[in-house]
Amino acid sequence: MTTVLDSPKARQPGDELSPELLADSELVDRYVDGRRRVTRLEAENAALLAEIDRRRAYEPDFFTTEAFLQSRVADSGKAARRCVAEARGLQEYPSVAMAYRAAEIDRPRVAMLLAASRVSPGLFQRDQEMLVETASTHTMAGTHQALEYWKQQADQVAAAADAEHLHRRRHLHASQSLGGMVRIDGELDPIGGRTVIIALRSLADAGAIDRVDDRTPEQRRADALVELCADHLQHGDVAESGGSKPQVIVTVSLDALRGRAGEPCELDAETVITPEAARRIACDASVSRVLMRGESEVLDVGRTTRVVPAAIRRALVVRDKGCTHPGCDRPHHWCDVHHVVHWADGGDTGLENLVLLCRRHHRTAHEGRTSGQSRE
Ligand SMILES: [Zn+2]
Ligand SMILES: [Zn+2]
Repeated sequence: MTTVLDSPKARQPGDELSPELLADSELVDRYVDGRRRVTRLEAENAALLAEIDRRRAYEPDFFTTEAFLQSRVADSGKAARRCVAEARGLQEYPSVAMAYRAAEIDRPRVAMLLAASRVSPGLFQRDQEMLVETASTHTMAGTHQALEYWKQQADQVAAAADAEHLHRRRHLHASQSLGGMVRIDGELDPIGGRTVIIALRSLADAGAIDRVDDRTPEQRRADALVELCADHLQHGDVAESGGSKPQVIVTVSLDALRGRAGEPCELDAETVITPEAARRIACDASVSRVLMRGESEVLDVGRTTRVVPAAIRRALVVRDKGCTHPGCDRPHHWCDVHHVVHWADGGDTGLENLVLLCRRHHRTAHEGRTSGQSRE
């Protein structure tokens, strides 16, 4: 009796295609071979599509080859554009097409090569054989890098134009959505984007040392962005406009600060915030008292003063060094001054009633009282 070690079940005639019946080596061979066959089929299909495109072989209702693909094979608009660009590109560069048909390079590499060709079609024509050779022998990352160098060397002007094109595409939107949340989206050029990623990561990772940190990575990045901006407003070289530095303005009644609900509590006179959030912001802010009669008549406006004078803040920095929340190591310049007994409740702005808390733990101390108690 023979035992086939790699095969858990005995093979029956007619079911040799079933993967669980294949020996390890055969399984692997078939998979790798399958991948190559798929690549060859893709190359063949690209050639068919190029001919369809050239002849406009589809029904006249479809005005473009892309529309034909969307309708007949249910491609998305983006996928259809990619297929057509690939088919046309392969017609231009026979070395790429040949290597594709022989499955020496796969579809993602073809896409990378054709994208590089756009920088300088003439020079790509000249160098295509060498570039295909590189793509067929390197990893995706290696191919990408080699192509980047080729772009720079082949035509510095074109490469610069390409980089300039990316740079010009940069944009950022920050808009308030319903419910007061602010939506941020945009695209940055490679260098600017890298700067942002590194800055956000350094801030987001610093918080991760804290073992009780239960924020998701996404929440950490969001907090990091807010911290960067708050730090800029607080310590940065911010240009004054209209006689004062740009800042977040909270309008709140004294009653609301003392915890009475239903009183106005507004951010920049548009977003309603909770009284507790207003109390947190007021802990360490500049305050000006506006005396009102009724809803609209201003009787008197007081001077704007810092709740925590600079000298007391300095003394606090010497004593606390950074956030006083257990396990948190945020340095003092990322910290707010927190009143253990709020000044609105008669708490004193003296060292014995103040502690440094990073913005996250300051928020916990006010709005998430469960774990946020500061040190005694
Ligand atoms: Zn506070
Ligand atoms: Zn902290």
